[in-house]
Amino acid sequence: MFAAVARRRARRSQPNLGPSAWTSAYASACSPKRQTAQNDLVLDIFRRVETIRHMKSYRKELWFNVPSRRAFINITSQVQECLLESRIKEGFALINAMHITASVFINDDERGLHHDYEKWLEKLAPHEPVGQYRHNDTGEDNADAHIKRQVMGRDVVVAVTEGKLDFGPWEQIFYGEFDGKRKKRVLVKIIGE
Ligand code: ZN
Repeated sequence: MFAAVARRRARRSQPNLGPSAWTSAYASACSPKRQTAQNDLVLDIFRRVETIRHMKSYRKELWFNVPSRRAFINITSQVQECLLESRIKEGFALINAMHITASVFINDDERGLHHDYEKWLEKLAPHEPVGQYRHNDTGEDNADAHIKRQVMGRDVVVAVTEGKLDFGPWEQIFYGEFDGKRKKRVLVKIIGE
């Protein structure tokens, strides 16, 4: 009952305030004698609502049409543009391939390393002969691409701090294509405040 009275009092005295002022108005309306479990619970709910209301969410699809079967593309600047557009300063960015024959991963932007990846992946799951894979019995020829994607990963999550991607030294985000020559997508989802 006290909670309801305090809530009404807070609403009457300060009708046009935002959620954070609401919380403090409610807190001061609850006298120390009325610090009941119910008041504490209502205050907790107010604070949670505040957090959710301040939270922003952003979604964008980045499209690729790689002319070769396989390629590694640095997409860091595109993700940074998304972050700028989102106006989110603190939170997390999820970047994932939306296809099961492509990857998103973080590593060094160094040509020799990309050559090493290509050689290593081809040794692990060579494209030819396509008849060696049961998946290709379906009429497809991309079993190797599914395996390569599994090894290189589906997605990455990057912390967002002070409006920037909070990378370690030399970290860059890459799109790994293993079955190109067609339009494919990467999802960027950023959540925070
Ligand atoms: Zn397939």
